[in-house]
Parts: sequence; structure tokens; C-alpha cells
Amino acid sequence: MSPMRTCIGCRKVKPAETMQRVTRNKVSGDLVFGGPSLGRGVWVCSEACRERALESGAFDRSLKTRGRSS
Ligand SMILES: [Zn+2]
Repeated sequence: MSPMRTCIGCRKVKPAETMQRVTRNKVSGDLVFGGPSLGRGVWVCSEACRERALESGAFDRSLKTRGRSS
């Protein structure tokens, strides 16, 4: 059985192996798609959901890196 993850674009729960992991580079603040599974990450199931999450600001809400350090 594959671990299940929730897509932040459509909120559907799907097998992690079919999804793309998204993390944030702590240094640059850039979003990293399909990078190493270090730190906090979120998941998207498709290009459409990735675009939707970008437009809605879901990544910023889910991958908050500011506020703690200041
Ligand atoms: Zn999705």
C-alpha cells in the first residue's frame, strides 16, 4: 500500500507515488517541485492543481517560512 497524501489543489487524497511533492527552499524562498523530501512539504496531483495552488496562494499558506525567524 502506498502512503496517501492530500492534494492542496483539489483536496483529494491520492497515493503519494502519483503526486508531486512541493517544498520551499529555505535560503531563496523559491518553491521546489519534486525536490528532496527535506523539511516541510505539500503535495499536488496534477499540473492543473499546481497552477491552482499557485494562483490561490495555497503554497504560501501551507509552506510558511516567514514569521518564525523574525
Ligand atoms: Zn489535485
